[in-house]
Amino acid sequence: MIQAQKGTKDILPEDSKTWQMMEENALKIFNNANFQEIRTPIFEATELFARGVGDSTDIVNKEMYTFEKAERSITLRPENTAGVVRAYIENGMHRQTPPIKLWYKGPMFRYERPQAGRQRQFHQLGVEMFGSTEAIADAECINTAVKYLNSLGLNSLDVEINSLGCSKCRETFRNKLRELIKPNLDKYCDDCKLRYEKNPLRILDCKVPDCNELLKEAAIQELINTDFICEECAEHFTQLKKYLDALNVKYNVNKQLVRGLDYYNRTVFEIKSNSLGSQNAVCGGGRYDGLVEMLGGPSTPAVGWAMGMERLFTLIEKQSDAKLDAFVVSDNPIEALKLCEELRGQGISCDFDYSARKFKKQFEKASKTANYALVLGEDELKSNTITVKNLATATQQTIPRNEILENLTK
Ligand code: ATP
Ligand code: MG
Repeated sequence: MIQAQKGTKDILPEDSKTWQMMEENALKIFNNANFQEIRTPIFEATELFARGVGDSTDIVNKEMYTFEKAERSITLRPENTAGVVRAYIENGMHRQTPPIKLWYKGPMFRYERPQAGRQRQFHQLGVEMFGSTEAIADAECINTAVKYLNSLGLNSLDVEINSLGCSKCRETFRNKLRELIKPNLDKYCDDCKLRYEKNPLRILDCKVPDCNELLKEAAIQELINTDFICEECAEHFTQLKKYLDALNVKYNVNKQLVRGLDYYNRTVFEIKSNSLGSQNAVCGGGRYDGLVEMLGGPSTPAVGWAMGMERLFTLIEKQSDAKLDAFVVSDNPIEALKLCEELRGQGISCDFDYSARKFKKQFEKASKTANYALVLGEDELKSNTITVKNLATATQQTIPRNEILENLTK
């Protein structure tokens, strides 16, 4: 038996209603806030991710599904920001009046160790906003994420925010952090040793418990808690907090929050739930003012986030499948199909039995799947009537066939 690949999962019919609800709410809430949907290809040139996600990230270093085709290196998208930025540049969206507000949903692929809340194919929902440096753009992005989560009945998630500053003010911080880590560098994990060279800030994001302990050293904590960012960046962060307060979005400042990707500057944020265990982040995002230019476009400020839909799924109340409006019980499949066609055409959901099984069996199926049974037996066919049985109350009445639509719609 061929089985689903490790780290992949079927989304079965019993869960579809809940997935559809997550997607419908996204459509409603993002469209209302003037975000437009964009759908980019599932595979892209490997180089896009190497440059766009960053070669000091776990994603690029060990999580990409990469293959060769016609001497080209291709990668299944591990995230969608790089693809959206590529599409933004390639389609000349920078020539439209900013801000450009986009959203997406779809499968992402990362070669990670599968565990609760971590799959190799999973789904993300995200927004990207291009063309505004204003902190109110950051606030609107965060607020949109929170409003979407609220629409799913999630009202008590923790919003954590931080500012990484700009590349200038971060430089000093980075050097000091290196200095403080150096004496114990050999005790950090191999990934952190690499990060030490390439992007030491990312050590703050390490999930290895031993590294976490090392970071608790007083001098390192003191550095993390100093206000190292420059005046302009600090002002931007103050503005962000002001706007979030005005929007009544509750948040905590977490000065150790850095995020896994290379491209963030100034605002970073995460939304977490303590009921998710160790994979507790539902949403992560931030500002990435340098990425569009780095991928060959004109210098364009941007901010966005991505949410893991599988993690959302485990948090929200499951939707049960609605029953069909009607099930036709008949020993004449072609008449049953004709009746179904007529009703389906009028927006009434219905089904019938293909092989004229015993009425008892057909009624069993009807009771399980529908609100009404429409009996089209020999008598009904002869007299051109239908017997309508309400399956909840077991009451029934026989009516002329041409009154069925009117009968069901009321
Ligand atoms: P984590 O720290 O949990 O690995 P990340 O920083 O790699 O997260 P992002 O790249 O920011 O995650 O992706 C945004 C969201 O996508 C995460 O907050 C999470 O909800 C979800 N996510 C990321 N990786 C996976 C995965 N392998 N399986 C399921 N969901 C995931
Ligand atoms: Mg990750």
